[in-house]
Amino acid sequence: MKTFEQIVDLERRYLLGTYNRYPVVLTRGKGVFVYDLEDRRYLDFVSGLGVNALGYAHPRIVKTIREQAAKLIHVSNLYYHEYQGALAEKLCTLVRGPVGVTSMGACRAFFSNSGTEAIEGSIKLARLAGHRAGGEAKCRLVGLKGSYHGRTFGALSLTGQDKHRKGFEPMLEGVTFVAQNDVEGLRAAVADNTCAIVLEPIFGEGGIYECSVEFLLECRLLADRHRAALIFDEIQCGLGRTGTMFAFQTFGVAPDIVAIAKPLAAGLPLGAFIAKEEFANAISPGQHGTTFGGGPLACRVALEFLAIVEEENLLENVNKVGAYLKQELQAVADKSPTAKEVRGRGFIQGINLEIPARPIVDDALGEGVLFNSTQDTVVRFLPPFLLEEKHVDKGIRVLKKLLKKKRKEAA
Ligand SMILES: *Cc1c(COP(=O)(O)O)cnc(C)c1O
Repeated sequence: MKTFEQIVDLERRYLLGTYNRYPVVLTRGKGVFVYDLEDRRYLDFVSGLGVNALGYAHPRIVKTIREQAAKLIHVSNLYYHEYQGALAEKLCTLVRGPVGVTSMGACRAFFSNSGTEAIEGSIKLARLAGHRAGGEAKCRLVGLKGSYHGRTFGALSLTGQDKHRKGFEPMLEGVTFVAQNDVEGLRAAVADNTCAIVLEPIFGEGGIYECSVEFLLECRLLADRHRAALIFDEIQCGLGRTGTMFAFQTFGVAPDIVAIAKPLAAGLPLGAFIAKEEFANAISPGQHGTTFGGGPLACRVALEFLAIVEEENLLENVNKVGAYLKQELQAVADKSPTAKEVRGRGFIQGINLEIPARPIVDDALGEGVLFNSTQDTVVRFLPPFLLEEKHVDKGIRVLKKLLKKKRKEAA
């Protein structure tokens, strides 16, 4: 096996310099733990950026991948296979929800390979529906300041952060940014030539900031009034992290199109957008597509992922342990002068510090814990759905210890 230095050196010499990795080489995982080259164990509060919701080496996922890989991995979208329609049916059932839960009604799904592509497809569909409803002029998009939607030109054009856009201009034309929860600003931005309002119900990369229900209701009202699509980017906050299968069910406001990805196929690349029938029927064969998207392996694993979440009552765990995590983080924020605020819910939470978060995350490695930082001062928690209270205790112990250490160093 190569050494740590050899692995790092190869990347330094041959990879495009886009990543600023934490200094650890991971080799295997089990449950909520991952292991490095020396077989040191780390408790995982990151889940590969919200992807590994079932942790590592879940026996049912491993079995499903083995079985399906031996049969059929890929066929392209030229042919039928057994699992794409079945997964679409399952997702369309889930966005309808049980009686009494906020519902999107009758929907259709499209499968992509990533979150960014799910956003890209959503915008393209909204443009088609917009043009159909109001001609060429009905093409404008409204997004939120501080949001994150991905790195392609369409998704980047909707990402309301200069640091991601700088150097890549020009962006897509016709995007207006509104501050999160600024109802007046929203009213001023949405008009008859708007084809879509695009937002994350909870900012992920943007630092864990929630949209208010009042703001989301206004988005719903304005989208209806102007016949624009309300698009929720639930790529990070969706599929269980808020304690309901979709974040819109937590907030009680249904979008017209919802984009999902990260945990959908338990680590295999798979994204999707699910659109209400009245928007979905604006597209015709040949107008959108992908070579890899929605293959038999990824779709079958996604069906297994959704079945495990239901059969193992994992949303119950997200709610229970998520509330405990919130309470314990709040206790840290109340007591520590270097911690300001706790935001989010369930298994998408963040604690905003008065100091840079990255050094805390680096030092946590030495304590056997994976944290992640975003927006310079936020420690973000996106743990696997299997996390237990005793794991929260360990994470909080390490966080407290490191905050204290940083305070001493600064003094
Ligand atoms: C991760 C993320 C994306 C982009 O998804 P990729 O799979 O990285 O392309 C888009 N929106 C949100 C909210 C995300 O968290």
